Amino acid sequence: MTERRGQALGILGGTFDPIHSGHLRLAEEALAALELAGVLWIPAGQPPHRGVPKAPAAHRLAMVHLAVAGHPGFAVDDSEVLGDTPSYSVPTLERLRSGVSRDRSLVLLLGIDAFLGLPAWYRWRELFDLAHIAVATRPGHSLVVEALPLPLATELAARRCDDPAALADSPAGRILPFGITALDISATDIRAQFAAGRSPRYLLPEAVLDYIADNQLYAK
Ligand code: ATP
Repeated sequence: MTERRGQALGILGGTFDPIHSGHLRLAEEALAALELAGVLWIPAGQPPHRGVPKAPAAHRLAMVHLAVAGHPGFAVDDSEVLGDTPSYSVPTLERLRSGVSRDRSLVLLLGIDAFLGLPAWYRWRELFDLAHIAVATRPGHSLVVEALPLPLATELAARRCDDPAALADSPAGRILPFGITALDISATDIRAQFAAGRSPRYLLPEAVLDYIADNQLYAK
């Protein structure tokens, strides 16, 4: 990743079972809209908030590598996949923080569905000590304060910021909603298409599609 100095670093975690164009546009549009130095992709090894992924972690990691290969602003962190503990964001961010300067701004990128589930995350309030959170609006999920669980609405009211440039002024603690191109693509739907024998072509990169076929990952 060719980082630009003095800018915030974006972090995109997920199960990526499989990675698809919704994830890629989220990262690409965040890079530009939030003026990030780059985006670090972190596939989860054992995601704690959901069932066991369909594809093993090593394959999900390989698909992320294939999808982001050659992009100068993207890099992949394989620590959660290689670790033998559940993939919690706070310990991961603590580790990333320990490798950068204290004033370096980190921005956790979340789709709005992930943001709405934040209060169920392990030590979730500590996220704000470690990173900013940028929430990408996604079809079917809007960021209406009245619709948020109370603890999240309280955090949003206290931390909301609408100027991406402000993210570089402090290392952590803000919540910034930002709009991205609405792509109603989900890994769940892609897996369902494979299971039904339909083709999800063009919803995910061709190289990832080939990898899935070669390894029979979501075979009917
Ligand atoms: P699944 O359908 O298996 O739950 P997913 O497609 O939501 O998977 P995840 O790996 O769980 O993918 O998502 C990682 C991150 O990407 C989350 O923050 C999620 O909100 C976001 N995301 C996923 N799909 C989209 C999309 N189409 N547009 C914007 N953000 C997305």
